[in-house]
Amino acid sequence: MSQLTHKVWMDRALAEAKLALAHDDVPVGAVVVQGGRVVAQAHNRREVEADPTAHAEILALRAAAQALGSWRLDGCSLYVTLEPCTMCAGAVVLARLPELVYGAVDPKAGAAGSLFDLVREPRLNHRVQVVTGVLAEECGAVLRTFFQSRRPQPAGCRGGAAGTAATLPATRGGVA
Ligand code: ZN
Repeated sequence: MSQLTHKVWMDRALAEAKLALAHDDVPVGAVVVQGGRVVAQAHNRREVEADPTAHAEILALRAAAQALGSWRLDGCSLYVTLEPCTMCAGAVVLARLPELVYGAVDPKAGAAGSLFDLVREPRLNHRVQVVTGVLAEECGAVLRTFFQSRRPQPAGCRGGAAGTAATLPATRGGVA
């Protein structure tokens, strides 16, 4: 799929991510696309549901499976604003998802190329095509703004704390 198409769907995931801000959840959004249409979309609801597994990807994959009437998400792509964690990367493999597209890299908890690479693990029975860095700046910026607003820093001490534009502050502690 073209980079432009990826951006269109990632933009949708980004809009979904921002909805999490309404309930003070870490702004991560996910969209499942099949044959050029959205099958499901969701945002992180961990805080509002008090559920450690209520990540955007899990909620979107569940909704997609329900909509399609199958746990196998053949022909689907998952767009998510942040690199999936171990749980979500595992769910992507379990759903036999052919393609994963993510925005910002998560060096502290990412399991699709950073800390682990579960989605391309040769010992597992399914491997996923991965596209990274789509709207990475925008996806990362939403997260940085969120964490900066929660942990105000003294004036003059903000420079250099945010890492590169496409990664997250090192102080984040693997929340998404
Ligand atoms: Zn996750």
